[in-house]
Amino acid sequence: MKYGYNTCLFSLDEYARKFHKTYKRPFLFCFHMTNYRFQNYAKRVGIGKIICLARTYKEHAREMNTIVTEDPLLFLKPASSVIFNHGTIIIPHMSQCLHHEVELGVIIGKNGKHIAEEKALQHVLGYLIALDITARDIQSIAKKNGWPWGIAKGFDTFAPLSDAVLKENVPNPQNLDLVLKINGAIKQNANTNQMIYSVERIISFISEIMTLERGDLILTGTPEGVGEIKEGDILEAYLGSLCSLTVDVKHA
Ligand code: MG
Repeated sequence: MKYGYNTCLFSLDEYARKFHKTYKRPFLFCFHMTNYRFQNYAKRVGIGKIICLARTYKEHAREMNTIVTEDPLLFLKPASSVIFNHGTIIIPHMSQCLHHEVELGVIIGKNGKHIAEEKALQHVLGYLIALDITARDIQSIAKKNGWPWGIAKGFDTFAPLSDAVLKENVPNPQNLDLVLKINGAIKQNANTNQMIYSVERIISFISEIMTLERGDLILTGTPEGVGEIKEGDILEAYLGSLCSLTVDVKHA
């Protein structure tokens, strides 16, 4: 007897027992999860939901001809969009214009709901430098029509992540240099002290909406200087001297 997804009306234990009885071997089950790559931290931490912020730097809001809002604007990226250092961003057939957005990433280490700002940093495990790759042409159409940004932000390879650093190595997340170079030329260069919302406020705000869980990643928004990337480009992103990321770009 075969057990497809449409026949899974019993528990995993029961499935395992029937599998063993039928095939005379143990049923092995594991959840596939991509793990962070930490510097000097041996424990495995799977990448959970990726919560992204928009318009968290005034100058970026200005260059996009949009306004800054009182509360942060959120959207989600799938964990399947993650690539790591020395990976390749793939330009999908559906888009003619990808943009780079360099951002501070905050990794959650402890579950929490309704987290007070004063306790927010207790929930942080570490930090990394990330790129929130955006299909700007698709996003522009979505904005005009009031549609969500899931397509523009969610393609595979649209979330390059550096190795992560533990928070103990980051005395002040609100004073970190963010730099993005393309083919050696600096395109974005800012400091997290220019963010409109603090990391504490962001964590507290998100936790009022959804439970933050160990392994979740918050991409805290990009400063000004976003622009197009093309096939053959080499992108280098830096979080001060703490960590860095190098990726290239190819067509699908
Ligand atoms: Mg962004």
